[in-house]
Amino acid sequence: MMKTSAAYLICMETKRVLGTEKAPGSCPYCNGEVMATTIECTRKLCCLTLSVTTKRQYTCSSCSKRLVAYLGDA
Ligand SMILES: [Zn+2]
Repeated sequence: MMKTSAAYLICMETKRVLGTEKAPGSCPYCNGEVMATTIECTRKLCCLTLSVTTKRQYTCSSCSKRLVAYLGDA
């Protein structure tokens, strides 16, 4: 089901990967190395920057699983 919202049309969200680093701990699925990817999200309304947020995403370098609940970092 597709929903078209007006906010989506005028708001632009761009994501930029700032870098990846090795995270402490290991993957709960395969015990592989966990990589932390820092992503910068920029929300724009036309040419106005509304917000810039950085978030971390954890992925396993062995099985490529997204470790969402990893370390409880939101
Ligand atoms: Zn894994």
